[in-house]
Amino acid sequence: MTQNNNPKIEVVNMKKEYFKKNKKKKTKKRPFISDTLLISLREALKKGKQALIFVNKQGKNSFSVCAKCKSVFLCKRCERALVERKDGSFSCLHCNFSTDIFPHCANCKNITFTSIGVGTEQLEEDLTKLFSKNKIARVDSESMSKPSSYDKLFSDFYSGKIDILVGTQMAIKGLYTPNLTLAVIIDLDQLLSGNDYDTDEKAFAHILQIGSRIGKFGKLIIQTYNPNHTVVEFAKNNAWNEFLEEELTTRKLLSLPPYSRIIKLTLELKSKKQADKEAQILFDELDKICSDMDLTISEPHAPLIDKVRDKYKIQMIITLKNLSKDFSKNSIPKELKEKLITLKTDWKIDIEPINIT
Ligand SMILES: [Zn+2]
Ligand SMILES: [Zn+2]
Repeated sequence: MTQNNNPKIEVVNMKKEYFKKNKKKKTKKRPFISDTLLISLREALKKGKQALIFVNKQGKNSFSVCAKCKSVFLCKRCERALVERKDGSFSCLHCNFSTDIFPHCANCKNITFTSIGVGTEQLEEDLTKLFSKNKIARVDSESMSKPSSYDKLFSDFYSGKIDILVGTQMAIKGLYTPNLTLAVIIDLDQLLSGNDYDTDEKAFAHILQIGSRIGKFGKLIIQTYNPNHTVVEFAKNNAWNEFLEEELTTRKLLSLPPYSRIIKLTLELKSKKQADKEAQILFDELDKICSDMDLTISEPHAPLIDKVRDKYKIQMIITLKNLSKDFSKNSIPKELKEKLITLKTDWKIDIEPINIT
């Protein structure tokens, strides 16, 4: 079975959808299901085809804010946004913390929250209302907690028992059937909102991956509030090679991988004060050891998510520059390596990390 390498891509400007939908109802809600999506979905289902709806968040929403004091509802242990569940409870995706079904705001004790963003559970609920006669299934780590559920779901999808599959990253991997003719990225901006040097590349890879799931004559719909973003422009024109060329030129200018090698050092401790102190000591030592090497070391700083499971994180980024074309010569300098080996186990050494924020 050949896969279609150049899917037809339709970009939906969600700003227009926002004004159109709210004008009618005099509301200020961010829509997640555009008219283009609705029409295409109806058409596909009428022809007996299947659809894949991708959203990068599980749960009902991305996060919730207190309706009274507007503070974001966070996990007590990780300080990361909690996601709302169908039963009314809120849970953390990074540890196993979960509230009861009547939670209150930690700041003002208020019991009502406003939902921001959309997740798999909410989409499944909305689509079930809109397409009550069709079979809709959800794929995310919550619905697929048993290993057998994954096999069952995919065999149901392949045999045509499921019409619409709503899912996170888990739904995309390995999925392909000629009957799948519509794929949708609900919120591309979620993918474009990272701060890592390779955020655009990852978003682009997602578009490619999701697009490659649909058969010939299929269509990929991308919903975004940034229809003029370079990633969208390149994707729309199937200009994959041009995107890579531009991305590499920028990376070269900024000495980013693959034109440099990155080592991330992360310290995790219960005491923030102790973590700051130890990181500063190591920074001063490394600064001395590496003074005549072709590399840079960032000052110790808190990562974007600086508290996980009750521990504070602090990190440093070492960038090895001016790499040789001969990759074997690009090893970590001996003195630096010797120092890194002696670090105590609270330090995590990540060579070529997935993210540096
Ligand atoms: Zn509050
Ligand atoms: Zn947590």
